[in-house]
Amino acid sequence: MIENHPESYYAASISQPFKGDKADGDLKADICIIGGGYTGVSAALHLAQNGHSVVLLEAHKIGWGASGRNGGQVCTGQRKEQGELEEMLGMEHAHRLWDLGEEAKNTLKSLIRDFEIDCDYKSGIAHPDHKARYADDSKRYVEKLNRDYDYEQIEYLSATEMAEVTGSETYFGGSLDLGAGHLHPLNYVLGLAHAARSCGAKLYEGCKVSAYETGENIEVKTPNFKVTASRVVLACNGYLGKLEPRLAGRFMPINNFVAATEPLEEANADRVNPRDIAIADSRFVINYYRMSADRRLLFGGGENYRAGFPRDIAAFVRKPMLEIYPELKDTRIDFAWGGTLSVTLNRLPDFGTLDDGRIVYAQGYSGQGVALATLAGKLISEKIEGQNSRFEAIASLPTPNFPGGTLLRWPGMVMGMAYYALRDRI
Ligand SMILES: Cc1cc2nc3c(=O)[nH]c(=O)nc-3n(C[C@H](O)[C@H](O)[C@H](O)COP(=O)(O)OP(=O)(O)OC[C@H]3O[C@@H](n4cnc5c(N)ncnc54)[C@H](O)[C@@H]3O)c2cc1C
Repeated sequence: MIENHPESYYAASISQPFKGDKADGDLKADICIIGGGYTGVSAALHLAQNGHSVVLLEAHKIGWGASGRNGGQVCTGQRKEQGELEEMLGMEHAHRLWDLGEEAKNTLKSLIRDFEIDCDYKSGIAHPDHKARYADDSKRYVEKLNRDYDYEQIEYLSATEMAEVTGSETYFGGSLDLGAGHLHPLNYVLGLAHAARSCGAKLYEGCKVSAYETGENIEVKTPNFKVTASRVVLACNGYLGKLEPRLAGRFMPINNFVAATEPLEEANADRVNPRDIAIADSRFVINYYRMSADRRLLFGGGENYRAGFPRDIAAFVRKPMLEIYPELKDTRIDFAWGGTLSVTLNRLPDFGTLDDGRIVYAQGYSGQGVALATLAGKLISEKIEGQNSRFEAIASLPTPNFPGGTLLRWPGMVMGMAYYALRDRI
């Protein structure tokens, strides 16, 4: 069944509505993209800009998945710190990944500018420490990025400075990164879809792909028509389901939740978040939050590792929100929703190809896909153009399968996550 965007603050504040194209029968294209989030739509845009005929098939609405529901944080680097990447992969590879992370943010910003996407982009993410023992590490990491990566947009904040920036007394210092930022995620992906269409891509909504068959060409099947293409891009991320069993064990789908309060009084909003930045704290189950354009606190917190969301998402998210802002105890929550993202075992993105390079995929951004999935679309386009090296910088990362595959990954993951969540509290 085709579903509309779930009820959320984002769905209620769409600035540039998008309606999919209409198909009269079977279609042919150079490239068929499955999935209409940042990965798929950015790939459609970049491939169409390079002159390919592109058909994108989205099961529901463009941005129905994680891309239309997330925290909107445009993060720096990868989900792992640079020191860990240096140890794991060596200096050169770690620097390449850093450069790609910088390019991801810059690509996003230039797409917003070039295609005039109305998505409230603003600069700044603070990363406050919720444990005093983390503060020295934060200081060292800021110094490392300043020194080894020439990254001057990040600075260390003391506990007092952090309290001013976050409006909360619960933190012990941390960093402020003005090279990162935040935006309205659904308006961003819908703006990208308009941009892709303006470059010639065709985007179809309500077309759930049931299967594809690789022969001389690839035949992609939907309930109402089929698409014949020479390449397929798989961009389903946490919503892949059973479509491609060869990829399913490479990531774990997990659910994460966001609540939007009623609009705050101006003075209240200025106290909670005086610099209108985003915040993502040091917890393993991260609390991430920021203000909407109409001064709601958009608070992300809590996750689960099973199919299905908690019955009362607002109550689920209110709990961590009040630990940080107890003064909001009487503030109404107007919207609360959840989404599914994919995490890999090593928390690094998983790119690759199947069937002699005819199927190209990108997934597993592990909670950092706003910028990285936008970049993935660009790198997929390069890969299809025959320029391998930047795509391979990610495709060559060691991405192990979850032990136990799709059936047994759950118990192991749940135990692991529960352990780290417990560590957050002690
Ligand atoms: C609650 C939440 C908060 C998050 N916060 C942040 C954040 O602040 N910053 C950040 O960087 N990242 C964040 N993320 C992660 C980020 O949203 C994702 O990494 C990113 O959106 C992935 O984009 P995608 O296009 O790969 O996948 P998605 O946006 O999930 O898109 C996949 C699409 O594929 C479609 N699909 C699946 N199967 C089929 C099929 N058979 N046929 C056709 N279509 C199909 C789905 O309907 C879906 O629309 C968050 C995620 C969640 C859920």
